[in-house]
Amino acid sequence: MAEVTINNSPVHSDIIITYPYGVADSGYSCGWHTGVDFAPHGETENNPLIYPVKEGEVVYVNLTTTPALGVQVQILDDEGHYWRYCHMVAGSVQVSVGDTVTTQTPLGRMGDTGNVTGRHLHLECSTTQAWQCSTFVNPCDILGIPNVDNTIIHYEDSPEPPIPPTPVTNIVKKFPWQILTRNIRKKRRNYG
Ligand SMILES: [Zn+2]
Repeated sequence: MAEVTINNSPVHSDIIITYPYGVADSGYSCGWHTGVDFAPHGETENNPLIYPVKEGEVVYVNLTTTPALGVQVQILDDEGHYWRYCHMVAGSVQVSVGDTVTTQTPLGRMGDTGNVTGRHLHLECSTTQAWQCSTFVNPCDILGIPNVDNTIIHYEDSPEPPIPPTPVTNIVKKFPWQILTRNIRKKRRNYG
């Protein structure tokens, strides 16, 4: 069973992949599972807060429990990907269209609204807001996590950005004639 730790998990405590992206499934209009499903794991509460995996702008909110995807929030990230967070608890959504969100902005709570068999987050990613079969992207690829059933995802707050290396200050600039002389010496050695 794989375990990974990331700083942009949709839940800020442990979750587990219960249904990977791309699995053949006639229950979806594309004929396959167009998102990845996450459920609470270990000590995580039943209806944990959901956070964006990428910062961006809220472009759509559905507060009703229908249709299939239930209560959902859509976000356009800075790289042009659309994300939708589905099946949230009715009445739990904390953002509105036009809001700017970071990976620390709570969107709502994981729930079971829409067409589901149990509580989970169905997370989708697409290159267009039309959510067509040809435009879906595997969210696991972007998150850098295995697209595999039962993968446990731990959350770790963003570490400090790495300190840039100290620039070398004592560079002795070589003049072209010095380099030339050195090359000539080398050649002489070679023929020596
Ligand atoms: Zn799903």
